[in-house]
Amino acid sequence: MSEQAPKWRFSRSHSEAYKRCPRYYQKAYIEGGTGIEPAALSMGLSRGSLGHEILAQYLNHVRKGTETPEILREIFAKAFFDFKNKALDRTLEDIDTSMLEWEIDRQCALVEGMCRAWIKYRLPMILDIYEIVATEVEREIELSPDVVLMTRIDNELRHKQTGEYAALEFKFTKANRSDYFDSWRYATQTAAHLIALEEIHGGRASSVLMEFLMVGTVRSDEKSGMDIYYSPLVRGYRLPANPPLQPDDIYGHESKLGIKKGWITFNVWEEVLQGKPAWMSNMEYWVEAVLPPEKAREQFVTREIFRHEDEMEAWKKRVVAQQRRLYTGVQMLQDKATEDQALDVFFPGNFDESCYSNKYFRPCPFLPVCYGELGTDPVESGKFVRRTPHHEREFEV
Ligand code: SF4
Repeated sequence: MSEQAPKWRFSRSHSEAYKRCPRYYQKAYIEGGTGIEPAALSMGLSRGSLGHEILAQYLNHVRKGTETPEILREIFAKAFFDFKNKALDRTLEDIDTSMLEWEIDRQCALVEGMCRAWIKYRLPMILDIYEIVATEVEREIELSPDVVLMTRIDNELRHKQTGEYAALEFKFTKANRSDYFDSWRYATQTAAHLIALEEIHGGRASSVLMEFLMVGTVRSDEKSGMDIYYSPLVRGYRLPANPPLQPDDIYGHESKLGIKKGWITFNVWEEVLQGKPAWMSNMEYWVEAVLPPEKAREQFVTREIFRHEDEMEAWKKRVVAQQRRLYTGVQMLQDKATEDQALDVFFPGNFDESCYSNKYFRPCPFLPVCYGELGTDPVESGKFVRRTPHHEREFEV
Protein backbone atom coordinates (compact mmCIF):
# COMPACT_ATOMS: atom_id res chain seq x y z
CA MET A 1 0.00 0.00 0.00
CA SER A 2 1.14 3.64 -0.49
CA GLU A 3 3.37 5.52 1.94
CA GLN A 4 0.65 7.89 3.22
CA ALA A 5 -0.87 5.41 5.68
CA PRO A 6 -3.31 3.99 3.10
CA LYS A 7 -6.55 2.41 4.26
CA TRP A 8 -8.42 -0.18 2.22
CA ARG A 9 -12.17 0.40 2.60
CA PHE A 10 -14.56 -2.49 2.14
CA SER A 11 -18.08 -3.46 3.18
CA ARG A 12 -19.44 -6.70 4.57
CA SER A 13 -21.22 -7.46 1.29
CA HIS A 14 -17.86 -7.32 -0.53
CA SER A 15 -16.46 -9.91 1.84
CA GLU A 16 -19.52 -12.15 1.47
CA ALA A 17 -19.43 -11.84 -2.32
CA TYR A 18 -15.79 -12.93 -2.35
CA LYS A 19 -16.64 -16.00 -0.28
CA ARG A 20 -19.50 -16.83 -2.63
CA CYS A 21 -17.20 -16.78 -5.66
CA PRO A 22 -14.04 -14.65 -6.13
CA ARG A 23 -14.99 -13.96 -9.76
CA TYR A 24 -18.45 -12.84 -8.62
CA TYR A 25 -16.75 -10.27 -6.37
CA GLN A 26 -14.59 -9.06 -9.25
CA LYS A 27 -17.59 -8.70 -11.56
CA ALA A 28 -19.90 -7.12 -9.00
CA TYR A 29 -17.49 -4.63 -7.44
CA ILE A 30 -14.38 -4.13 -9.55
CA GLU A 31 -15.05 -4.61 -13.28
CA GLY A 32 -15.15 -1.30 -15.14
CA GLY A 33 -14.23 0.64 -11.99
CA THR A 34 -17.26 0.09 -9.74
CA GLY A 35 -18.53 -3.29 -10.94
CA ILE A 36 -21.50 -4.26 -13.08
CA GLU A 37 -24.99 -5.56 -12.33
CA PRO A 38 -27.87 -6.92 -14.42
CA ALA A 39 -29.88 -4.16 -16.12
CA ALA A 40 -33.18 -5.74 -15.05
CA LEU A 41 -33.77 -5.19 -11.33
CA SER A 42 -33.78 -8.23 -9.11
CA MET A 43 -37.26 -8.56 -7.62
CA GLY A 44 -36.04 -9.63 -4.18
CA LEU A 45 -33.24 -7.06 -3.90
CA SER A 46 -35.27 -4.14 -5.18
CA ARG A 47 -38.23 -5.02 -2.92
CA GLY A 48 -35.85 -5.20 0.05
CA SER A 49 -34.21 -1.86 -0.83
CA LEU A 50 -37.60 -0.21 -1.16
CA GLY A 51 -38.75 -1.52 2.24
CA HIS A 52 -35.45 -0.51 3.88
CA GLU A 53 -35.67 2.99 2.47
CA ILE A 54 -39.24 3.48 3.70
CA LEU A 55 -38.56 2.17 7.21
CA ALA A 56 -35.32 4.17 7.47
CA GLN A 57 -37.11 7.41 6.65
CA TYR A 58 -39.98 6.71 9.00
CA LEU A 59 -37.75 5.58 11.89
CA ASN A 60 -35.68 8.72 11.45
CA HIS A 61 -38.86 10.67 12.18
CA VAL A 62 -39.59 8.38 15.14
CA ARG A 63 -36.09 9.10 16.46
CA LYS A 64 -36.78 12.84 16.26
CA GLY A 65 -40.36 12.52 17.54
CA THR A 66 -41.81 13.98 14.32
CA GLU A 67 -43.62 10.92 12.95
CA THR A 68 -47.27 11.32 11.89
CA PRO A 69 -49.62 9.27 9.66
CA GLU A 70 -49.38 12.05 7.04
CA ILE A 71 -45.59 11.87 7.00
CA LEU A 72 -45.75 8.10 6.57
CA ARG A 73 -48.13 8.53 3.63
CA GLU A 74 -45.73 11.03 2.05
CA ILE A 75 -42.80 8.64 2.53
CA PHE A 76 -44.68 5.82 0.79
CA ALA A 77 -45.79 8.09 -2.07
CA LYS A 78 -42.30 9.43 -2.76
CA ALA A 79 -40.57 6.02 -2.44
CA PHE A 80 -43.12 4.35 -4.74
CA PHE A 81 -42.84 7.15 -7.31
CA ASP A 82 -39.06 6.71 -7.46
CA PHE A 83 -39.25 2.90 -7.49
CA LYS A 84 -41.81 2.90 -10.32
CA ASN A 85 -39.67 5.19 -12.47
CA LYS A 86 -36.57 3.09 -11.87
CA ALA A 87 -38.34 -0.22 -12.51
CA LEU A 88 -40.03 1.11 -15.68
CA ASP A 89 -36.66 2.30 -16.89
CA ARG A 90 -34.70 -0.88 -16.09
CA THR A 91 -37.53 -3.47 -15.95
CA LEU A 92 -37.88 -6.27 -13.37
CA GLU A 93 -36.20 -9.63 -13.89
CA ASP A 94 -38.43 -12.41 -15.31
CA ILE A 95 -41.41 -10.06 -15.81
CA ASP A 96 -43.05 -9.71 -19.20
CA THR A 97 -43.19 -6.06 -20.29
CA SER A 98 -46.99 -6.29 -20.70
CA MET A 99 -47.25 -7.04 -16.95
CA LEU A 100 -44.51 -4.71 -15.74
CA GLU A 101 -46.68 -1.86 -14.41
CA TRP A 102 -49.05 -4.29 -12.73
CA GLU A 103 -46.15 -6.13 -11.08
CA ILE A 104 -44.64 -2.86 -9.87
CA ASP A 105 -47.98 -1.99 -8.25
CA ARG A 106 -48.14 -5.42 -6.63
CA GLN A 107 -44.62 -5.08 -5.22
CA CYS A 108 -45.40 -1.59 -3.87
CA ALA A 109 -48.59 -2.92 -2.24
CA LEU A 110 -46.73 -5.81 -0.68
CA VAL A 111 -44.01 -3.53 0.71
CA GLU A 112 -46.61 -1.08 2.02
CA GLY A 113 -48.47 -3.92 3.74
CA MET A 114 -45.31 -5.37 5.30
CA CYS A 115 -44.06 -2.00 6.53
CA ARG A 116 -47.45 -0.88 7.85
CA ALA A 117 -48.03 -4.15 9.73
CA TRP A 118 -44.56 -3.98 11.27
CA ILE A 119 -44.92 -0.32 12.25
CA LYS A 120 -48.36 -0.91 13.78
CA TYR A 121 -47.67 -4.08 15.75
CA ARG A 122 -43.94 -4.62 16.22
CA LEU A 123 -42.41 -1.15 16.46
CA PRO A 124 -44.25 -0.15 19.69
CA MET A 125 -42.84 -3.26 21.41
CA ILE A 126 -39.30 -2.26 20.44
CA LEU A 127 -39.83 1.36 21.50
CA ASP A 128 -41.01 0.20 24.93
CA ILE A 129 -37.51 -1.15 25.52
CA TYR A 130 -35.15 0.84 23.29
CA GLU A 131 -34.67 4.33 21.95
CA ILE A 132 -33.42 4.82 18.39
CA VAL A 133 -30.12 6.71 18.37
CA ALA A 134 -29.17 6.52 14.67
CA THR A 135 -30.73 5.33 11.42
CA GLU A 136 -28.67 4.24 8.41
CA VAL A 137 -25.70 6.41 9.34
CA GLU A 138 -22.61 5.73 7.23
CA ARG A 139 -19.83 4.57 9.58
CA GLU A 140 -16.17 3.70 9.05
CA ILE A 141 -14.73 1.20 11.50
CA GLU A 142 -10.98 0.70 11.58
CA LEU A 143 -10.43 -3.05 11.93
CA SER A 144 -6.66 -2.59 11.61
CA PRO A 145 -4.47 0.41 10.69
CA ASP A 146 -4.82 -0.50 6.99
CA VAL A 147 -8.32 -2.07 6.70
CA VAL A 148 -11.55 -0.14 7.25
CA LEU A 149 -15.07 -1.59 7.37
CA MET A 150 -17.72 0.69 5.84
CA THR A 151 -21.09 -0.03 7.34
CA ARG A 152 -24.60 1.38 7.60
CA ILE A 153 -26.57 -0.35 10.34
CA ASP A 154 -30.31 -0.11 9.69
CA ASN A 155 -30.87 1.28 13.21
CA GLU A 156 -28.65 1.74 16.24
CA LEU A 157 -30.63 1.31 19.48
CA ARG A 158 -29.95 2.06 23.16
CA HIS A 159 -31.65 0.08 25.90
CA LYS A 160 -33.67 2.49 28.03
CA GLN A 161 -32.71 0.84 31.33
CA THR A 162 -29.26 -0.68 30.88
CA GLY A 163 -27.90 1.87 28.38
CA GLU A 164 -26.46 -0.97 26.27
CA TYR A 165 -26.43 -0.62 22.50
CA ALA A 166 -28.07 -2.99 20.04
CA ALA A 167 -28.60 -3.10 16.28
CA LEU A 168 -31.95 -3.42 14.53
CA GLU A 169 -31.75 -5.09 11.13
CA PHE A 170 -34.54 -5.73 8.59
CA LYS A 171 -34.84 -8.62 6.15
CA PHE A 172 -37.68 -8.77 3.64
CA THR A 173 -37.87 -12.47 2.88
CA LYS A 174 -39.78 -15.36 1.37
CA ALA A 175 -37.85 -17.86 3.52
CA ASN A 176 -40.32 -18.72 6.27
CA ARG A 177 -38.09 -21.39 7.82
CA SER A 178 -36.63 -21.55 11.31
CA ASP A 179 -33.26 -22.77 9.97
CA TYR A 180 -33.03 -19.54 7.94
CA PHE A 181 -33.96 -17.35 10.91
CA ASP A 182 -31.62 -19.22 13.27
CA SER A 183 -28.70 -19.12 10.83
CA TRP A 184 -28.22 -15.42 11.62
CA ARG A 185 -26.73 -16.48 14.96
CA TYR A 186 -23.64 -17.45 12.91
CA ALA A 187 -23.80 -14.80 10.18
CA THR A 188 -21.05 -12.38 9.30
CA GLN A 189 -23.50 -9.50 9.48
CA THR A 190 -24.38 -9.94 13.14
CA ALA A 191 -20.70 -10.16 14.18
CA ALA A 192 -19.81 -7.13 12.04
CA HIS A 193 -22.69 -5.05 13.45
CA LEU A 194 -21.67 -5.72 17.06
CA ILE A 195 -18.02 -4.88 16.33
CA ALA A 196 -19.18 -1.64 14.70
CA LEU A 197 -21.51 -0.71 17.60
CA GLU A 198 -18.75 -1.25 20.15
CA GLU A 199 -16.36 0.93 18.15
CA ILE A 200 -18.94 3.68 17.63
CA HIS A 201 -20.39 3.89 21.12
CA GLY A 202 -17.69 2.27 23.28
CA GLY A 203 -18.35 -0.55 25.73
CA ARG A 204 -20.14 -3.80 25.10
CA ALA A 205 -22.97 -3.98 22.57
CA SER A 206 -25.64 -6.45 23.59
CA SER A 207 -27.31 -7.96 20.54
CA VAL A 208 -28.73 -7.63 17.05
CA LEU A 209 -32.50 -7.65 16.65
CA MET A 210 -33.19 -9.36 13.34
CA GLU A 211 -36.63 -8.40 12.09
CA PHE A 212 -37.89 -10.63 9.26
CA LEU A 213 -40.79 -9.17 7.26
CA MET A 214 -42.48 -11.97 5.39
CA VAL A 215 -43.23 -11.74 1.67
CA GLY A 216 -45.49 -14.81 1.91
CA THR A 217 -45.50 -18.06 0.00
CA VAL A 218 -44.99 -17.51 -3.71
CA ARG A 219 -46.20 -20.15 -6.18
CA SER A 220 -46.42 -20.20 -9.92
CA ASP A 221 -49.98 -20.31 -11.29
CA GLU A 222 -50.30 -23.24 -13.70
CA LYS A 223 -52.74 -21.42 -16.01
CA SER A 224 -51.12 -17.99 -16.33
CA GLY A 225 -47.53 -18.95 -15.47
CA MET A 226 -47.43 -15.92 -13.18
CA ASP A 227 -46.41 -16.00 -9.54
CA ILE A 228 -49.16 -15.80 -6.95
CA TYR A 229 -48.25 -14.22 -3.60
CA TYR A 230 -50.20 -16.02 -0.89
CA SER A 231 -49.79 -13.19 1.58
CA PRO A 232 -52.85 -11.98 3.52
CA LEU A 233 -51.41 -8.50 3.05
CA VAL A 234 -52.15 -8.46 -0.68
CA ARG A 235 -54.50 -11.38 -1.31
CA GLY A 236 -57.99 -11.02 0.14
CA TYR A 237 -61.26 -12.95 0.02
CA ARG A 238 -64.79 -11.54 -0.04
CA LEU A 239 -68.24 -12.99 0.52
CA PRO A 240 -70.51 -10.53 -1.32
CA ALA A 241 -73.42 -8.95 0.60
CA ASN A 242 -76.71 -10.87 0.48
CA PRO A 243 -79.40 -8.66 2.08
CA PRO A 244 -81.34 -8.95 4.27
CA LEU A 245 -79.48 -11.99 5.70
CA GLN A 246 -76.01 -10.46 5.19
CA PRO A 247 -76.25 -6.69 4.60
CA ASP A 248 -72.54 -6.10 3.94
CA ASP A 249 -69.64 -7.80 2.20
CA ILE A 250 -67.54 -9.96 4.53
CA TYR A 251 -63.77 -9.92 4.14
CA GLY A 252 -61.48 -12.87 4.86
CA HIS A 253 -57.76 -13.60 4.69
CA GLU A 254 -57.32 -17.40 4.89
CA SER A 255 -56.29 -18.94 1.57
CA LYS A 256 -58.73 -21.86 2.06
CA LEU A 257 -61.55 -19.31 1.41
CA GLY A 258 -60.37 -19.22 -2.20
CA ILE A 259 -62.09 -22.56 -2.85
CA LYS A 260 -65.11 -22.00 -0.60
CA LYS A 261 -68.49 -21.55 -2.29
CA GLY A 262 -69.56 -17.94 -2.79
CA TRP A 263 -66.19 -16.40 -1.84
CA ILE A 264 -64.28 -14.25 -4.32
CA THR A 265 -60.50 -13.86 -4.34
CA PHE A 266 -59.17 -10.34 -4.97
CA ASN A 267 -55.98 -8.27 -4.98
CA VAL A 268 -56.16 -5.91 -2.03
CA TRP A 269 -54.50 -2.94 -3.78
CA GLU A 270 -56.96 -3.11 -6.72
CA GLU A 271 -60.22 -3.76 -4.88
CA VAL A 272 -62.94 -1.21 -4.06
CA LEU A 273 -62.97 -1.77 -0.30
CA GLN A 274 -66.23 -1.23 1.50
CA GLY A 275 -66.01 1.54 4.14
CA LYS A 276 -62.57 2.81 3.09
CA PRO A 277 -62.18 6.61 3.43
CA ALA A 278 -61.06 8.26 0.18
CA TRP A 279 -57.88 9.65 1.76
CA MET A 280 -56.57 6.24 2.77
CA SER A 281 -54.72 3.88 0.44
CA ASN A 282 -56.19 0.40 0.14
CA MET A 283 -53.18 -1.00 1.97
CA GLU A 284 -53.50 1.41 4.87
CA TYR A 285 -57.20 0.59 5.29
CA TRP A 286 -56.56 -3.15 4.96
CA VAL A 287 -53.86 -3.18 7.68
CA GLU A 288 -55.53 -0.61 9.96
CA ALA A 289 -59.15 -1.71 9.75
CA VAL A 290 -59.60 -5.13 8.16
CA LEU A 291 -56.72 -7.53 8.79
CA PRO A 292 -57.03 -9.09 12.28
CA PRO A 293 -54.03 -8.24 14.55
CA GLU A 294 -53.11 -11.91 15.02
CA LYS A 295 -52.93 -12.37 11.24
CA ALA A 296 -50.88 -9.21 10.78
CA ARG A 297 -48.44 -10.32 13.50
CA GLU A 298 -47.84 -13.59 11.62
CA GLN A 299 -46.24 -11.52 8.86
CA PHE A 300 -43.05 -10.88 10.79
CA VAL A 301 -40.61 -12.95 12.83
CA THR A 302 -37.92 -11.75 15.25
CA ARG A 303 -34.65 -13.23 16.43
CA GLU A 304 -32.41 -11.57 19.01
CA ILE A 305 -28.84 -12.56 18.16
CA PHE A 306 -26.02 -12.63 20.72
CA ARG A 307 -22.38 -13.14 19.72
CA HIS A 308 -19.42 -14.08 21.86
CA GLU A 309 -16.47 -11.66 21.93
CA ASP A 310 -14.14 -14.47 20.77
CA GLU A 311 -16.27 -15.02 17.65
CA MET A 312 -16.16 -11.32 16.83
CA GLU A 313 -12.39 -11.16 17.29
CA ALA A 314 -11.92 -14.26 15.12
CA TRP A 315 -14.10 -12.72 12.37
CA LYS A 316 -12.11 -9.51 12.54
CA LYS A 317 -8.79 -11.38 12.08
CA ARG A 318 -10.14 -13.45 9.18
CA VAL A 319 -11.63 -10.51 7.34
CA VAL A 320 -8.53 -8.30 7.75
CA ALA A 321 -6.38 -11.08 6.25
CA GLN A 322 -8.92 -11.55 3.44
CA GLN A 323 -9.07 -7.84 2.62
CA ARG A 324 -5.28 -7.45 2.60
CA ARG A 325 -5.17 -10.22 0.04
CA LEU A 326 -7.95 -8.59 -1.98
CA TYR A 327 -6.13 -5.28 -1.94
CA THR A 328 -3.11 -6.95 -3.52
CA GLY A 329 -5.32 -8.67 -6.10
CA VAL A 330 -7.12 -5.46 -7.05
CA GLN A 331 -3.82 -3.59 -7.45
CA MET A 332 -2.63 -6.32 -9.82
CA LEU A 333 -5.93 -6.21 -11.74
CA GLN A 334 -5.41 -2.54 -12.46
CA ASP A 335 -2.07 -3.19 -14.14
CA LYS A 336 -2.42 -4.57 -17.68
CA ALA A 337 0.80 -6.58 -17.23
CA THR A 338 -0.57 -8.52 -14.22
CA GLU A 339 -4.31 -8.43 -14.93
CA ASP A 340 -4.63 -12.01 -16.24
CA GLN A 341 -2.48 -13.42 -13.46
CA ALA A 342 -4.62 -11.58 -10.87
CA LEU A 343 -7.81 -13.05 -12.34
CA ASP A 344 -6.39 -16.56 -12.14
CA VAL A 345 -4.77 -16.29 -8.73
CA PHE A 346 -6.96 -13.89 -6.75
CA PHE A 347 -10.32 -14.01 -8.54
CA PRO A 348 -10.84 -17.52 -9.93
CA GLY A 349 -14.44 -18.40 -10.78
CA ASN A 350 -16.32 -21.33 -9.26
CA PHE A 351 -17.18 -22.63 -12.75
CA ASP A 352 -19.29 -25.45 -11.39
CA GLU A 353 -22.94 -26.27 -10.72
CA SER A 354 -23.22 -23.30 -8.32
CA CYS A 355 -23.13 -21.06 -11.41
CA TYR A 356 -26.52 -22.47 -12.38
CA SER A 357 -28.10 -23.03 -8.97
CA ASN A 358 -26.79 -21.08 -5.99
CA LYS A 359 -27.93 -21.25 -2.35
CA TYR A 360 -31.14 -19.46 -3.36
CA PHE A 361 -31.69 -22.09 -6.10
CA ARG A 362 -31.19 -19.43 -8.73
CA PRO A 363 -28.59 -19.00 -11.49
CA CYS A 364 -25.73 -16.63 -10.73
CA PRO A 365 -26.53 -13.25 -12.37
CA PHE A 366 -23.09 -13.31 -14.03
CA LEU A 367 -23.58 -16.69 -15.68
CA PRO A 368 -23.97 -15.26 -19.23
CA VAL A 369 -20.89 -13.06 -18.66
CA CYS A 370 -18.62 -15.82 -17.34
CA TYR A 371 -19.75 -18.30 -19.99
CA GLY A 372 -19.10 -15.85 -22.82
CA GLU A 373 -22.70 -15.40 -23.98
CA LEU A 374 -22.54 -11.60 -24.10
CA GLY A 375 -19.32 -10.94 -25.98
CA THR A 376 -16.51 -8.94 -24.45
CA ASP A 377 -18.53 -6.02 -23.08
CA PRO A 378 -21.59 -6.95 -20.96
CA VAL A 379 -22.61 -3.29 -20.64
CA GLU A 380 -22.57 -2.80 -24.39
CA SER A 381 -24.87 -5.81 -24.72
CA GLY A 382 -27.54 -3.86 -22.82
CA LYS A 383 -28.02 -6.71 -20.35
CA PHE A 384 -25.76 -5.15 -17.70
CA VAL A 385 -25.21 -1.66 -16.30
CA ARG A 386 -22.45 -0.08 -14.25
CA ARG A 387 -23.10 -0.44 -10.54
CA THR A 388 -23.64 2.63 -8.35
CA PRO A 389 -21.57 2.15 -5.15
CA HIS A 390 -23.57 1.87 -1.92
CA HIS A 391 -20.93 3.57 0.19
CA GLU A 392 -19.48 7.02 -0.45
CA ARG A 393 -15.81 6.05 -0.06
CA GLU A 394 -15.94 2.52 -1.44
CA PHE A 395 -12.45 1.15 -2.14
CA GLU A 396 -10.88 4.54 -1.48
CA VAL A 397 -7.32 3.92 -0.39
S1 SF4 B 1 -21.15 -17.62 -13.08
FE1 SF4 B 1 -19.98 -19.01 -11.74
S2 SF4 B 1 -17.85 -18.38 -11.98
FE2 SF4 B 1 -19.11 -16.69 -12.76
S3 SF4 B 1 -19.36 -15.31 -11.04
FE3 SF4 B 1 -21.11 -16.67 -11.05
S4 SF4 B 1 -20.56 -18.37 -9.67
FE4 SF4 B 1 -18.65 -17.28 -10.22
